[in-house]
Amino acid sequence: MVKSWTAAPERWVTIDHSALAHNIGTIAQSVKPAQVMAVVKADGYGHGAVEVAQTAVAAGATWLGTAHVREALELREAGIAAPLLAWLHTINTPFEAAVAHNIDLGVSGPEIEAVADAARATNLPARVHLKIDTGLSRNGAVPEAWDALCRRAAELQQSGLVRVVGVFTHFAVADDPVGEPAVDEQLRVYHEAVDTARKHGLTVDVRHVANSPALLSRPDTHLDMVRAGVAIYGLSPFADRTATDLGLRPVMSFGTTVAHNKPADEGTGVSYGYAYRCETPTRLALIPCGYGDGVPRIAAGAPVWIGGKYYRVAGRIAMDQFVVDLNTDRDDETTAPVGAEVELFGAQSGIPSDAWAQAADTINYELVTRIGTRVPRVHKQWV
Ligand SMILES: *Cc1c(COP(=O)(O)O)cnc(C)c1O
Repeated sequence: MVKSWTAAPERWVTIDHSALAHNIGTIAQSVKPAQVMAVVKADGYGHGAVEVAQTAVAAGATWLGTAHVREALELREAGIAAPLLAWLHTINTPFEAAVAHNIDLGVSGPEIEAVADAARATNLPARVHLKIDTGLSRNGAVPEAWDALCRRAAELQQSGLVRVVGVFTHFAVADDPVGEPAVDEQLRVYHEAVDTARKHGLTVDVRHVANSPALLSRPDTHLDMVRAGVAIYGLSPFADRTATDLGLRPVMSFGTTVAHNKPADEGTGVSYGYAYRCETPTRLALIPCGYGDGVPRIAAGAPVWIGGKYYRVAGRIAMDQFVVDLNTDRDDETTAPVGAEVELFGAQSGIPSDAWAQAADTINYELVTRIGTRVPRVHKQWV
C-alpha cells in the first residue's frame, strides 16, 4: 500500500535524548569511579531500547543490562557492541546465541550447566555474573546454595568453559534505602558471598548491587558498577523526592491533539457508566488515547494539558479515548478546538508521569513502560 497520508503522528511519545544524556552524565559523575550500567529492559522502560542504549553509551554508560537474552540479542542485532548483561532465564533461553554474541549471563544456580553447554557448542567461554539472593527472594542462589555454585563455577572456569566476571544481587527495599536495616543486612550477606567466591579462586572484577534508589541515596552500594534503570529515564524512585529534586530530567512526554469539541448541558453524563456528570453547561473535548495506548483505565481525574491550560479527565477512560470537561461557556468554540495540542505528561506541560501514576494507583515505572505500541516513539536527538 502506498503511504499517501500525512506523516505526522496522531498520538506520540517524545523521547528527549538530551535529557537522557544529562541523566546518564549526572549519574556517572555522582557514582564515579563506579561504572554505570544503563538498564534498557522492557524496550527501555517503554522509551525504545535500541535508541536509549545508543545514547546511554555515547553519554557515558559503559554497560547495558536487560532482563532477557532475547532483549540483549536485539541490541546486538542493532550493532550495539557495549558490554551487555542479561539475568532472567528459562529453559528456552537461547544461551548459545548469547555466548556467540558476547552477552554476559547472570547465573543463579543449575542453569550454569546449560550455559557451559552453550560454551562447548560455540567453543567460546561464557562470561558469567553469579547472583546471590540476599533477601529479595526472586532469582539468585540462596546463601546455603552459594558455596556449591561457586565451586561449580570455579571448576567450569578451570576447564575454560566459563569466565566469572562479577557477583551481583538486587535490593528488596526501593522506596527509601537510607538507614534501612534490610539494605544493610543484604549488603552484609552480599560481601560475605563475594569473599566466598574469592576463596574459590574466582576473581570478582565487577561487584554490582545498586538499582536507582540505592545509587541515588547510598554511596556504600556503588561498588564497581551501578545498574541504573528508572533514574536514567529522569524519573524518581522515591515518593517524597521529585526528579527535579534529584537533578534528573524526565525523558518521555506523551502528546496528542484534540479530536472533537462539543457543547454539553448541565447534568450531561460523560463516558461509560456516566461516572461523571457536567455540573454546569459546558464544553467537552475528546482526547484520542485510551487504555489501548497504555493510558490506565482507572486514572479518572488525572491532569491533562491542552494548549497551555490544565484540565482533568472526566469519567471513564475507554480503550481508544477519554473526555475532558473544559469548564467553559457552552458556546465557547475557541477553547481547546479540534487540533489543539494535548499533553498527558511531559516537558511542555510540566505534568510529571508521577501524577498519572498516582491517579492510576501505580508507580511511574509501570506507567511509562506500558505505553502501547499504537503510540509511535518520536526521538528528539541529543543536542
Ligand atoms: C530492573 C532492574 C534494575 C534497575 O532498577 P531501577 O530501580 O529501575 O533502577 C537493576 N537491577 C536488576 C536486577 C533489575 O531487574
